[in-house]
Amino acid sequence: MTHHGLGNPQIQEIAPGVFVVTKLVHFFAKIGVNAGIIHTPNSVIFIDSGMSAYSGAYLWNFAKKRMNGTEDLYLILTHKDTDHCFGMNEIRKQGATVIAHEHTAEIIRSWHDLSKNPIAKRVRKQFHPNDVLGDVILSRPDQTIIRDTTLNLGDEIQLLSIPGHTPGDIAVYHPKSKVLFAGDAILEGMDPYVRPDSINIKTWIKNLQRLKELDIEWILPGHGALSKPDIIDSNILFLMSEQS
Ligand SMILES: [Zn+2]
Repeated sequence: MTHHGLGNPQIQEIAPGVFVVTKLVHFFAKIGVNAGIIHTPNSVIFIDSGMSAYSGAYLWNFAKKRMNGTEDLYLILTHKDTDHCFGMNEIRKQGATVIAHEHTAEIIRSWHDLSKNPIAKRVRKQFHPNDVLGDVILSRPDQTIIRDTTLNLGDEIQLLSIPGHTPGDIAVYHPKSKVLFAGDAILEGMDPYVRPDSINIKTWIKNLQRLKELDIEWILPGHGALSKPDIIDSNILFLMSEQS
């Protein structure tokens, strides 16, 4: 059954213990928003948390079924946007360490009062916020990075600093499965989203080119369908056309 605060999410296991979640609810984009879950031998890593507390709870409840309760928990936020962060507390309150780029952490820290959040205000025009957002609580991430960082969380997890869509974009690469969780640095089914706080397009393109050096089997974009690595090139082409 679908719920206004959840949408109609789809889950696929694309490698052992590696799940991609697409079409989590998005209040302004029909295409929905994506997230990921990686189970390693001793940890569970969530990548993004959806646009509502219901989405965050959905991700947690799905992953919990495969846990034995001894795992270390992590939530990596690919960037600061509400559609990726609003579910964060549902995972954080279970004991997850939240990791993000320092830029993302600076922005999220300032969102202590949801009633002043412009996105929550926009949602209010259409829905009763409690019905669709649930109990959204934002807090500053626990750990931050400013450059590429490799973590050993049972499996190797690479956090790649790839500013573009926002100054704090992180892509998450899991070498064991060759899966890249790209956040909104790469989109499918819609054009890359260039906006006032995006960094200059030349640097964005350079960062996407860097991703082509990875050995990638699948890319989960921030929005749209699970993709093959050639999606990097189509995103680069679009950005190049924006430049001229
Ligand atoms: Zn997004």
